[in-house]
Amino acid sequence: MLEAVQRGADILRGSGNALDAVVAVLVALENHPLFNAGTGSLLTTDGTVEMDASVMVAASDERANRVGSRADSQAGVMAGAVAAVTRVRNPIQLARAVMERTPHVLVVGSGAERLARRVGLALCSNEELITERARERWRQQQESAQLGIGAKTQGHGTVGAAAIDCRGTIAAATSTGGVPGKIPGRVGDSAIIGAGTYADKTGGASATGNGEAIITRALCREAVMNLRQTTPMTAVRRVISRTLVLDGAQGGIILVDRRGRIGFAHNAAAMEVATFTSLAGIRHLWPDSIKT
Ligand code: ASP
Repeated sequence: MLEAVQRGADILRGSGNALDAVVAVLVALENHPLFNAGTGSLLTTDGTVEMDASVMVAASDERANRVGSRADSQAGVMAGAVAAVTRVRNPIQLARAVMERTPHVLVVGSGAERLARRVGLALCSNEELITERARERWRQQQESAQLGIGAKTQGHGTVGAAAIDCRGTIAAATSTGGVPGKIPGRVGDSAIIGAGTYADKTGGASATGNGEAIITRALCREAVMNLRQTTPMTAVRRVISRTLVLDGAQGGIILVDRRGRIGFAHNAAAMEVATFTSLAGIRHLWPDSIKT
């Protein structure tokens, strides 16, 4: 994770943009077999990989007025997402392509893979994305299901990033192989703008955890909306304790606001976070879980 954050930090230090930074971080995490995204994704009940990813970018007010074609509050805001993709190594790059190269926000399945080919992203076989570790977890999951123990909800490992650059542009991105025991075709929050990923001129956020609860609560948008009243840290703690905890769901969220302040919170067994600021450099944190 720290190596991935380093890539984002290098981009931001060199006056690069927030979008390039979050995508670079996620590509590194998707390529690492330990995370549940890209290579190493969890498997569906059929034993296949189906991945979701999304990205959103919001320019600062001043910049939006300069670059925005419309004089409304949506000027300078863009989003892209893919769901249930099975043959791309880096779904986040495909989500970015949806945002930048199509008039759409969400493209799924084989259509998304056709787009990947069109924009020059190499396709791979589904098999190439499956690690021995993921297969072993799948076997355990299948056995528990057969014994009627019920699907385990642990075993997350979704990856996300949020950043603000020196021009005030905010970007957030999320990528996942989904939840253990998911049926083929199931789409989680990581593909849903507002739920797993959200950014506007006030802040950007990325979430992990039980996708169904995160979608119903539009968790990331809710957290960013909270920035109107409070600090990033309070905003994220609030959405976890007032929504996920009450729903009996588990998850976590990271957030950055327009002043570069950072928030992170979770109520899962664990969530690791790394932060980068030009003043403090890279820091690795294990935030405490919020309990009821
Ligand atoms: N939120 C992801 C999903 O539901 C899973 C996770 O974050 O672990 O697909």
